[in-house]
Amino acid sequence: MSSMSRLPIFSCGRLLLHCAVAGLLWLFCATLAMAAPTPVPLSASARVPLSGHAQLLEDASRAMTLAQVRQRDTGWQQGPSDALNVGFSRSVWWVRVAVRNSTGQPLPVVFDLGSPLQDEVEWFLVRRSGELMATNRSGDRQPFHARGIDHRTPTLPALLPVGEPLELYLRLDSHDGLHEMLPLSVSGEARFYAQANLETLLLGLYHGALLALTLYNLFLYVSTRERAFAPYVAYLGAFLLWSFTFSGLGFQYFWPGSPNFNNAILAIAVGASISIFGFFAQAYIRAPEIQPPWCTRLMRVLSYINLLAVLPALFDHYTLAFALSIPASLLLLVVCSSSAVWAMVRGSREALVLCIAFAVLGISCAIYYLKLLHVLPSNGFSTWALQIGSCLEVLLLAFGLADSMNTLKAQKLEAERAAREAQAALTTRLDQQVRERTDELEQVNRRLGELAITDELTGAYNRRHFNDIFRDAVHGVARSDPWVLCMFDIDHFKAYNDHYGHQAGDEALRTIVHAVQQQLKRSGDRLFRLGGEEFGVLYTAASPEAARQFAAQLREAVVHSTLPHPTSPLGRVTASFGAIWWSGHGAAMPRVDDLYAAADRALYEAKQAGRDRVILRAFEAAAEPDTSGDCCGASRYDKLRANPA
Ligand code: GH3
Ligand code: MG
Ligand code: MG
Repeated sequence: MSSMSRLPIFSCGRLLLHCAVAGLLWLFCATLAMAAPTPVPLSASARVPLSGHAQLLEDASRAMTLAQVRQRDTGWQQGPSDALNVGFSRSVWWVRVAVRNSTGQPLPVVFDLGSPLQDEVEWFLVRRSGELMATNRSGDRQPFHARGIDHRTPTLPALLPVGEPLELYLRLDSHDGLHEMLPLSVSGEARFYAQANLETLLLGLYHGALLALTLYNLFLYVSTRERAFAPYVAYLGAFLLWSFTFSGLGFQYFWPGSPNFNNAILAIAVGASISIFGFFAQAYIRAPEIQPPWCTRLMRVLSYINLLAVLPALFDHYTLAFALSIPASLLLLVVCSSSAVWAMVRGSREALVLCIAFAVLGISCAIYYLKLLHVLPSNGFSTWALQIGSCLEVLLLAFGLADSMNTLKAQKLEAERAAREAQAALTTRLDQQVRERTDELEQVNRRLGELAITDELTGAYNRRHFNDIFRDAVHGVARSDPWVLCMFDIDHFKAYNDHYGHQAGDEALRTIVHAVQQQLKRSGDRLFRLGGEEFGVLYTAASPEAARQFAAQLREAVVHSTLPHPTSPLGRVTASFGAIWWSGHGAAMPRVDDLYAAADRALYEAKQAGRDRVILRAFEAAAEPDTSGDCCGASRYDKLRANPA
């Protein structure tokens, strides 16, 4: 394998650029014979990049031996200055470079291929005489321990004699046509190990940080069950696996005896990382909520395609996987970025964070590759720009995630508060409505109650109410002032009706009731219509005399209502009054009907005596009980009048 590891989107552009530049150069130079390379002077302390000093030879037959290669004068091409790169090629490629120990003593050095992922590399360090000084065959299609040194990239250690020019040949082969980009270098042994230790420390820190972040977010997800964490944890996990395998650490420390697994797991990690990133980005900016459905579908489809694109790699077809993955991942990146920018412009904070994270990663990639192209100086920052950038990226995303959790929580609390307020407002409104309805019902009930005790025609209390009030008055007399039941009946009212008509009769009844009611100024005084043109007034009076006076006042009120009555002997509407005054004192409590009958008798007497007058009697409780029965029913006076005998 190898170049699968270069699938990351940021390396694709560079790879293509290199392929193009290298291709043109090689086409131009291939036909020319090239002088043997000048030996590069080596010192103990320096790390010398060898790409710029190397020459490349294509062996399309894949069958050339070292001896044949050494004899070839033509076909050699100058290597590019930064890193050897032959891109897609089924051929075997030979590299030659000359070195010379320029120190005054034997110099232990380590040649470093610079990439952990080249499939096959054979090293040959030979004297000008052709004597083989050191050789090794390794690469990530060989078991890890085939390497000269346990290092994440293939290396060749050698002891260089003083001053002697030596030739280093590399035979580079690939499993199915993908060659890795190789920043070949040589360092003094001590320098190499110092560098290797530092790299291991920094890569350990980097992957440790990624692992800690992954586990932390995983625990957060497990404990909070907050769904937004799931795609982030998956993305972090896949990215960690990718980076760990891509750096060669996985092969070195975890599965050194399984080169096939190493290649397969890298393909899976690459596909999963890009694909999960697609899903993660959608969830992160809550794409389905803010963008058109087709856009979300497109992101989803591209995410799946990226996962499927690496499938051929699992069946050893890395070239095909690479060819599918590059456009798929580029397309996904473009769609995700556009979607994020679109959402950011519309004010999404999550999208803003995603865009910043993208930008940080993009800038770090640019710094790293500008360093490789010698545009930027090589220093700690530019060498580790990718790791620094990706670390910042995942940290930014983590902060963004926490921020969006906070925002969601705040929104939830706000929604709950609004719901509580709405609930309270609803309750208040309902309470108000219930109060209003209750008031209305009470008014209606009061009105109904009034209607139930009121005579419709005159507005006086009706007979039913009289029965209740009168009974209470009789039984409560001991606790109250003496009272009077004063009954009155309009005189010759039949004749009035006959003369003026029934409607005028009704009007006359209303007028008389009004006139009498005007006299009732005390709160306990009440006027009842007992039936027809017969009425009763209940009022209190301290003495019979006071009772008589008030009854006379009522009679005058009727007279003063000045209703003409031409067919009455009296010439106007009058009424006869019969009243009883009862103090409540006596031997026994009389029957209600007896009291009523006594008043009725008094009325009869008034009629008999010539009408338009008041007859008042003080009721004696010991008086002979009345046996006529329902005095509170039909009027005694009516009965007497019906049967005068
Ligand atoms: P008296 O002086 O003996 O009481 O003579 P009267 O004509 O008033 O008595 P009577 O009992 O013969 O007639 C009562 C009349 O009252 C008969 C009826 O037409 C009239 N009347 C009773 N109720 C109403 C009513 O609601 N409206 C009208 N317009 N007339 C009524
Ligand atoms: Mg009458
Ligand atoms: Mg009558």
